Amino acid sequence: MRLVILGLPGSGKGTQSTRISKRFGIPQISTGDILRQAVKEGQDLGRKARRYMEQGQLVPDALMAELVILRLQAKDCQRGFILDGFPRTIAQAKTLDGLLKEKNIALDAVLRLQVSAESVIQRLSHRRLCSRCGADYNLLSNPPKEEGRCDRCGGSLRQREDDQAKTVARRLQVYQRQTKPLETYYRDRGILLVFEAERGVEEVSAEIIDTLKSLACAELVKDSTSSG
Ligand code: AMP
Repeated sequence: MRLVILGLPGSGKGTQSTRISKRFGIPQISTGDILRQAVKEGQDLGRKARRYMEQGQLVPDALMAELVILRLQAKDCQRGFILDGFPRTIAQAKTLDGLLKEKNIALDAVLRLQVSAESVIQRLSHRRLCSRCGADYNLLSNPPKEEGRCDRCGGSLRQREDDQAKTVARRLQVYQRQTKPLETYYRDRGILLVFEAERGVEEVSAEIIDTLKSLACAELVKDSTSSG
């Protein structure tokens, strides 16, 4: 299954992608995570991307295309993938189209998580990440057992630099301006699926997984009828 997940920062893309990845056995490709790791390790990519990320701006398309082309060539993507955080511009969507066309494959669905700007501002101001293993917490809805410490590895929890109020406002603007047009782009192709994501994680996840299971069954039926 080849999927893209879209939504405002803080809409739950990472959480839902992790669940989809486990349920369907496909890799979750989070371009944000890849970039943060590159920054942490002082890689060339990280040095180039850092200032854009800190300011809540998008990293240039050419750099992102290079990263994604390389990642999608990896063997674990042969059975499918879920792209979390890519594409974010029409130019990136076109790069992805070209890449998939070359391989004679297509996206099965683009999932869009629907949440209000007010909710994401609230969610992001309470989001904390483990500085060691990257585990994700929310101080209101999913707090750690011990304040400031990761339940999994004991690492210290910190706020992402770009989750601070000023940068969040910029990221929301960037979404409206540069990423929102992708909704129409994929709706026009008939592959956009919208999920109301103000609800709890479990409820949203159950609905997404049921929908994807039906989609996978429909694909199997289509394949078996077309192959005779
Ligand atoms: P995320 O974790 O998906 O919210 O991404 C964090 C930051 O990484 C974004 O605010 C951008 O600066 C950068 N980034 C991640 N994915 C992309 C992308 N597809 N295009 C451009 N910049 C990106």
